[in-house]
Amino acid sequence: MLSFAFTPEQEDFRRQLRRFAETELAPRYRERAATTEFFWDAHRQLGDLGVLGLGLPEKYGGSGEDDPITLGMACEALAYGDVNVAAAPVQVGLVAAQLAHYGHPSVAEEWLPPLIAGEAVAAIAVTEPSGGSDAAHLRTTARKVEGGYLLNGEKIGITHVMNGQIGLVYAREPGSEGAKGVSALVVRLDADGVERRPVHAMGCLPLGWGGLSFTDVFVPDDHLVGEEGRGFSGVMGHFDFSRPALGLMCLGAAQASIDEAVAWAGQREAFGKPLAAFQGVTFPIAEHATYMEAARWLCYKALWSRTAGEPHTHLAAMGKWWPPIVAKEAIETALITFGNLGYSDEMPLQQRLRDVSGYLIGDGTAGIQKRIIATTMFGRVAAQ
Ligand SMILES: Cc1cc2nc3c(=O)[nH]c(=O)nc-3n(C[C@H](O)[C@H](O)[C@H](O)COP(=O)(O)OP(=O)(O)OC[C@H]3O[C@@H](n4cnc5c(N)ncnc54)[C@H](O)[C@@H]3O)c2cc1C
Repeated sequence: MLSFAFTPEQEDFRRQLRRFAETELAPRYRERAATTEFFWDAHRQLGDLGVLGLGLPEKYGGSGEDDPITLGMACEALAYGDVNVAAAPVQVGLVAAQLAHYGHPSVAEEWLPPLIAGEAVAAIAVTEPSGGSDAAHLRTTARKVEGGYLLNGEKIGITHVMNGQIGLVYAREPGSEGAKGVSALVVRLDADGVERRPVHAMGCLPLGWGGLSFTDVFVPDDHLVGEEGRGFSGVMGHFDFSRPALGLMCLGAAQASIDEAVAWAGQREAFGKPLAAFQGVTFPIAEHATYMEAARWLCYKALWSRTAGEPHTHLAAMGKWWPPIVAKEAIETALITFGNLGYSDEMPLQQRLRDVSGYLIGDGTAGIQKRIIATTMFGRVAAQ
């Protein structure tokens, strides 16, 4: 039978996180978002709430059961209070799931417990100055040497470069081409030969965004994650949960904005009436509420399909290209509903707009998601 209901456990967890988002996160969102300092306090609180271990093995402090729906739900609920803090389950999930499944046990034992407890963060480094969309043609090299690899190259636009302890770095065997020959390596970001460079972005400031360069960085053999030369397929499978989760995260921030606009329209008067009396104000909000509802269920359908073991790569791509656009446009409308106040830093709306805009690009642009969807529909001929 068709049902849109979550399990009672999921619903309880969602309520708990939403309460946390409203009472603990929202009051200091603008303060946290205005600096490049990482919010370790809030991040540790996520660890205590069990948010960072969703779907990860119990022996490292995780929930044990693979549960992409709860992960997406957590992102959505937390983003109601702070969209930057809400990115953590995805960020930790992307790296930690690969370490747990394909990493050497000693490396997993070293890094999974602090990642799950909120005591460490990890970057995932794919994008390079030569291009991010065409990720399979990355140029960073990992040359095999005795006992490990020597890493050389450059990465750009990477989250958690400035505040992370490790990075999962994608690099190719010299001379290899395309996705073949790309390996994933765990690299300490304070290792000899690693340089980090902050990049000041229009939003997502506390996420420590920046560039990395590697000059003859030695990475021991046991820091290889997955099979040598086949690291790329590992990360691509994980993007199928991160994409709809990021879509839900953007929608959580949009929901907070629309709720604020509804409350404001009920109290602010113009021409002797509350704004809510004018269809010119309420209809755009009603339209965005409709798009958000549709986008939300698209994301949950993708996560549900992943849980059920059904094909979902196309749904995950749909859940990444459209929901961030829906969210951005809803936030814009909420901002305009507040007039000059919406544009000011007295309201969180301008900040949410800047933070959410990052996800129009991060984890793949709309153009690249549509390419993935088209490929599932038309075959490789569409992959131009
Ligand atoms: C907030 C944020 C966080 C990020 N975090 C990370 C991270 O943690 N790790 C990481 O590795 N990267 C990260 N990135 C980088 C991101 O993944 C890349 O910026 C993205 O994949 C695009 O690559 P690019 O910037 O090189 O643009 P390009 O690949 O140069 O593309 C430029 C434009 O051309 C379009 N385009 C290119 N090829 C095609 C095509 N075939 N069809 C249609 N359109 C096309 C793209 O859609 C885009 O609009 C992040 C980016 C942002 C903004």
